[in-house]
Amino acid sequence: MFDGPLLNIVDLVKHFPLGGGVLAKPEGWIKAVDGVSFSVSRGESFGLVGESGCGKTTLGRLILRLIEPTDGRIEFAGQDIFSLSPAELMPLRRRMQIIFQDPYSSLDPRMKVDAIITEPLRAIQRLTRNQQQNAAAELLEKVGLQKADLDKYPHEFSGGQRQRIGIARSLCVRPELIVADEPVSALDVSIQAQVINLMQDLKEEFNLSYVFISHDLSVVQHICERIAVMYLGSIVELATTEDFSRTPRHPYTRALLQAVPLPDPHHKTASFSMEGDVPNPIDPPGGCVFHPRCPYKFDRCSLEKPPLMEATANHFVACWLNQGHGMTNVERQMTN
Ligand code: SF4
Repeated sequence: MFDGPLLNIVDLVKHFPLGGGVLAKPEGWIKAVDGVSFSVSRGESFGLVGESGCGKTTLGRLILRLIEPTDGRIEFAGQDIFSLSPAELMPLRRRMQIIFQDPYSSLDPRMKVDAIITEPLRAIQRLTRNQQQNAAAELLEKVGLQKADLDKYPHEFSGGQRQRIGIARSLCVRPELIVADEPVSALDVSIQAQVINLMQDLKEEFNLSYVFISHDLSVVQHICERIAVMYLGSIVELATTEDFSRTPRHPYTRALLQAVPLPDPHHKTASFSMEGDVPNPIDPPGGCVFHPRCPYKFDRCSLEKPPLMEATANHFVACWLNQGHGMTNVERQMTN
């Protein structure tokens, strides 16, 4: 068995053409993913977090090779997925599955739960009807539903129950990696915790790795061992969850963390707010992409893009304040 990282992403780029036509030149490019690199180990939950439009969903689709990259490489268990033919890709598809955001639109309303869950299984294995039903019933019970639910249609379930059906479907082919794209954001807050806890239990039981995509930092902090923060197509900070929560280093991360509500009314955090909105990805700012919104910017920030560098052990940051050894005056100001 390959003993390197289960998923290895190297300098991944995805630019979408804007306007133009089959023969006409595009009028511009949307830089959805712009030079992203990270790896995910077997059994790890890796969180990708950022505001809407930061490129995290495009990245999820690239990992599953639902779209082709502009440049860069993705290796799954040591195999470059973009170099594989459709026939060679088939066995890999079984090993990577997705859980979608919207449990209402991701399940075909005309299919019974039995058919929904076994659909991926039928595509890759010849099983008798009885074997299919037993597999589906077993999975339904694992996700907290009942065998009798096999005979029902999606509209007979609540949002949380539908997401459990989506999870059962993704597990049907015994994958190694699941890309969960905002899996709880469409659910009531009271149901979100149940589904997150279920995903955590299933991770242990099925020895899964997750790439968990969310705009909600508190959800990602709860389930992931490492977190990468994306902003305008680039990773600006990557660290273990503990490090990330204790000593966030990028100004954008600090702003995201401050937006997470705390249950303690007496807890006080230093006030810090971002200026303006996320810039247009068609014409991203030069230098540090965060500089138009950053209260700590200085001359160099608008001129040179900071690379993602290791600031402390296994804690990577793309910010000029963190590139030197020892604290600068501005960094002291940021950490006070
Ligand atoms: Fe702010 Fe400059 Fe750091 Fe960018 S590089 S986050 S603009 S201080």
